[in-house]
Amino acid sequence: MTGQGDDFARRVVELIDAGNGALGRHDRQAAVVSYARASELLFQQAAVSADYDEKVRFAQRARQLLESVRALKGERAETLAIGEANTGLEAAGESSVAPAPRVSSGVMFADIAGLDEVKETLRLRMIYPARHPEKLDRYGLSMGGGMLLFGPPGTGKTLVARAVAGELDTPFFSIKPSDILSQYYGQSEARLAELFETVRGCAHGAVVFVDEIDAIGASRTRSDVSEPSRRLLNQLLNELDGVHGRPKGLLFLAATNEPWLLDQALLRPPRFSEKCYIPLPDQPARRRLLELRLAGCPLAGDMDLQRLADRTEGFSGADLVELCERAKQIPFREAILRGSDRPVGQADLDEALRRVRPSVSEESLQRYERFGHD
Ligand code: ADP
Repeated sequence: MTGQGDDFARRVVELIDAGNGALGRHDRQAAVVSYARASELLFQQAAVSADYDEKVRFAQRARQLLESVRALKGERAETLAIGEANTGLEAAGESSVAPAPRVSSGVMFADIAGLDEVKETLRLRMIYPARHPEKLDRYGLSMGGGMLLFGPPGTGKTLVARAVAGELDTPFFSIKPSDILSQYYGQSEARLAELFETVRGCAHGAVVFVDEIDAIGASRTRSDVSEPSRRLLNQLLNELDGVHGRPKGLLFLAATNEPWLLDQALLRPPRFSEKCYIPLPDQPARRRLLELRLAGCPLAGDMDLQRLADRTEGFSGADLVELCERAKQIPFREAILRGSDRPVGQADLDEALRRVRPSVSEESLQRYERFGHD
């Protein structure tokens, strides 16, 4: 280690000792401050370290310290899914990525309305190859690269990725840029490295889903892309290429509402080389989605979902979810205020329909279609 490295190591040891000392005096607040500072230094060093193993070691140690801080603050110690992790350290200006995947997502293709072609593509490209690797070998095929799901917001991209994990009964890692990106120097890269290290440890495979990938993967040619963002994207490309050990049995999916912003390098094999358009639901899909969202709720006999599906052209899945929720709230409110007990009826859906508008413009739809054909 260099002289500078020695200084860093000494400072971290001092801070940890100070934290231990504070704990000995039952001064939890002082221990929190020392451990949090040590963790921050470790994250910074992880980011600049040229040695990959060292990078990961520092990031892991940094995260352990953050977990100690969290425990000291009396917060829940259980680990959460990547991308849903919130260690409660925002007060200290930090947050960490906890490395426990959610074991299977619990979502299946049957929970998704419509998107039959998308499901078939995913079966062929991901599900069958993962289930029958011997047949891939037999025909000299490889697993192929990752898949980019693109389309308007609220069309079920996240749901589709979860369902791939559900169908394969495999762990699901959801990576959200908001959990990676940090204002603190070097933390974003350290988190990304740690995250991939965790993912590589999934001996029996996993589905890794990078949501809103444009937030990390914006084109490097854009003048407004900062140097740290460029570095982070380079690291993501390296991780996806398996520069640090090709992850076996891992399936990569990414989602974006703005595919035209992405750096071209992300769309080349073995990264997200397959683009898959997730469109607005068509009439049968809208009807199915309405059925799914109203299932389990008392419904009046006058309900005409077929007509409602006709009248909701241009609505995204999320818009339809909102429509159903608003409709259900009407009898719910009456039940609370007036003690009534009536099912959801057509009039409630009509009333909700007056308030919910399609969130996706015709203009943006055309842009997606054009991108899909490029
Ligand atoms: P996206 O990732 O495309 O922004 P999500 O997957 O987060 O969209 O979906 C938003 C909401 O709409 C979720 O509640 C999801 O369950 C619902 N939804 C969207 N499309 C569908 C669909 N085709 N089938 C069932 N639910 C859907």
